Amino acid sequence: MSERISIVERILSSNDKLAEENTARLDASKVLAVNLMASPGAGKTSLIEQTLPLLAEQLRVAVIDGDIATSIDADRASAAGAKVAVQINTGGECHLDAVMLQQALTQIDLSTVDLLLVENVGNLICPAEFRLGTHQSVLIASIPEGDDKPYKYPGMYRGVDALVINKIDLLPYIDFKMDYFQRGVEALNPGLVTFPLSCRTGEGMQTWIDWIVQLVRE
Ligand code: MG
Repeated sequence: MSERISIVERILSSNDKLAEENTARLDASKVLAVNLMASPGAGKTSLIEQTLPLLAEQLRVAVIDGDIATSIDADRASAAGAKVAVQINTGGECHLDAVMLQQALTQIDLSTVDLLLVENVGNLICPAEFRLGTHQSVLIASIPEGDDKPYKYPGMYRGVDALVINKIDLLPYIDFKMDYFQRGVEALNPGLVTFPLSCRTGEGMQTWIDWIVQLVRE
């Protein structure tokens, strides 16, 4: 058992080293990278689809999509106007790691990009444990998932820099107690910047866009 634990620690520390290399590489090309994490169906790809056209006149955006299989998400990002969209198939792994990001970065001319959106594999557990070397981590929650998720997945909610609450257009139809949800978030990640929005109606999107543009400008 102790041997097993020490091996896992070695894997994690070599991942951290590679993550630092990724950050250095992104910094050298002045690319801001954002790691988008969520459970399956929360709207990671939809958020990317709605975000790309709103940034088109201001920023050059590349997208890296992680999924266990298919290139559906990279195809959607491409169709929505990504300068380049790279699909990573993890072949069963429940998360992206720094090696996968490093390989995907070799397929992008970073000198032509201002912002890199990385869509992680849909999962609220594993992606939180593997640093990629991105500058910001954003969690996308959604109303149909239920208001208890901060309580059930504290590791994910604790580690992120911003929170999108998607599908707020469904609030009238779903028993989601926003107060209860936000109390859970506040206990884990006090003052977390939060964007309630709807990718379907566009409500709240502009505040999210302004935040991203501000990050890149800084
Ligand atoms: Mg997706």
